[in-house]
Amino acid sequence: MSVAVLNPATEEAIAELEQAGVEETDAAVARARDAFPAWRAVAPQDRARLLRRLAALVEEHKDELARIESRNVGKPIAGARGEVGMVAEVFHFYAGAVDKHHGQTIPVAGGVDMTFREPLGVVGLIVPWNFPLNIASWKLGPALACGNTVVLKPAELTPLSALRLAELALDAGIPEGVVNVVVGKGSVVGQRLVEHPDVAKIGFTGSTEVGRSVMEGAAGTIKRVTLELGGKSANVVFADADLERAAASAPYAVFDNAGQDCCARSRILVQESAYDEFIDHLVRATSALRVGDPADESTEMGPLISAQHRETVASFVDDEAEILYRGDAPEGPGFWFPCTLVHASNEDRIAREEVFGPVAAVIPFDGEEEAIRVANDTPYGLSGSIWTRDGARALRVARALETGVISINSNSSVRVSTPFGGMKQSGFGRELGMHGLDGYSEVKHVFYSTER
Ligand code: NAD
Repeated sequence: MSVAVLNPATEEAIAELEQAGVEETDAAVARARDAFPAWRAVAPQDRARLLRRLAALVEEHKDELARIESRNVGKPIAGARGEVGMVAEVFHFYAGAVDKHHGQTIPVAGGVDMTFREPLGVVGLIVPWNFPLNIASWKLGPALACGNTVVLKPAELTPLSALRLAELALDAGIPEGVVNVVVGKGSVVGQRLVEHPDVAKIGFTGSTEVGRSVMEGAAGTIKRVTLELGGKSANVVFADADLERAAASAPYAVFDNAGQDCCARSRILVQESAYDEFIDHLVRATSALRVGDPADESTEMGPLISAQHRETVASFVDDEAEILYRGDAPEGPGFWFPCTLVHASNEDRIAREEVFGPVAAVIPFDGEEEAIRVANDTPYGLSGSIWTRDGARALRVARALETGVISINSNSSVRVSTPFGGMKQSGFGRELGMHGLDGYSEVKHVFYSTER
C-alpha cells in the first residue's frame, strides 16, 4: 500500500511512498543483525572518521535537507536550516566521543577488574513528526558511535528527511546494513520493532500514550528502552525578573515549531504583582511573530502538521476560554492555527494536557512556594524556565522543580553537549552529550586473575 506525504502549508502531496509491513521490518532487522559484527569491529578512529564524514555531508546538503524538512513539516525555512545545522553538530560531537567513552579499572583482590562499554546490537529508533531529522540524529549519533546497527522508523507523516539521511550515511562510507530506514505505520512497523527478539533496545520519542505501550511491548523480551515523551512545561516568571526580556522570549518558547515542541513552555506562570505589566509585554511580543509561508525567509511560524491535529488543538480553545490574545493566520489551504494566549487556572484542561499547538495557558501565582507547587502539579516533567533577578531563589526553584531540563533567565535548554530528557511521565533516559552514550551501550566487567 502506498500513502501520500503532504505539505501541511499547502495540503498538496509531495511524495507517494510504499508502506512497509512486518515482512519488510523483519528484513531490515536481519540486515542490521548481519551488519553488526563487522560494524562493532571497525576501529574506533575509523568509526569516528565515518561519523565525521556524515556530519560534513549533512553540512554540504544543509539547504536541501532544510527544504525537505520545511516542505514536509511546515517549518519556517530559516529555522529548518538551523535544525539541520544541529544535526551536523550532533554527528561531529559523537565522532569526537567514540574514543572518549572509556571503561574503568576497579581495585579488587587477586587480579585486575576492568569494565568495557559494549554495543547492544540492533537498536530500533522510533521518532515523531515534529523534529524528524533532529530527533533521529540524537539517537543515531550515540547508537552508531557505540558500535550498534540501527533500524530507524520515522513518523508516518514525515518520512522524507530520514530517507535522505540514510543515503548520505551510505555516501559517507558507513557500510550497507548499518543504517536502515523503514517507512510504515507505528502500529505495524513500530510495534514489530518493539516486539522483535533480535532488537536489543528501542530509543523512542513520541507521546506518553504510545510510550506506555512501547514499554509494555518491550517487557516481552526485556528490551532496553529510553523514552522521550510529552511535556507541559512551566515558564515561571517572578515579579523581580527583567519582565520585558522574559516576555520578549516567551512567545518563541511556546510558539516555535507552531507549538509542536515537547519542550514548549506552554504554561506561563506569572507572579500576580507583575501580571498586568507582563501581559502587556507578552501580547506585544506575540503580535510581532510572523506567521505565514514556511518558504519565506522571514517567517517565524508555519502551520500545524495535519487537519486532524488542528482539530485537537482547536478543542482546547472553546467558547469558555478567557482569551488574552489571538493572532492572525493565513486563510485558504494549509493547517493554520493562530497564536493564542489564554488566561487559565492550573486545573483547566488547557493547563493539564499537552496541546502541542500555538496555545499558551497564562496562570497567575502568589509566591515562591505556590509557583513550585503549581509548576510541579502535572504528570509531566520535561523542561521549563525560571525568570528572576534573585540568584539564590533561581537555584532553589531549579532544584525544587520536578523536571529533567530547566533554564534560568533563558528559554533555551537543548544543546548538543548537554543531557536532555524527562522526569515523571515525560520518560526516562538521557539523550545528547556524553550521557547519550549510556543508553546505547552496556557495561561489562572482566576480572583477570593475576595469581601465580
Ligand atoms: P506518537 O507517539 O503518535 O508517535 C511517535 C512515533 O511512534 C511515530 O513514529 C509513530 O509511528 C510511532 N508509533 C505509533 N504507535 C506505535 C506503536 N504502537 N508501537 C511503536 N511505535 C508506534 O507521537 P507524535 O504524534 O508523532 O509526536 C508528538 C508527541 O511526541 C508529543 O507528545 C511530544 O511531546 C512528543 N515528543 C517528545 C519529545 C521528547 O524528546 N521528549 C520530542 C518530540 C516530541
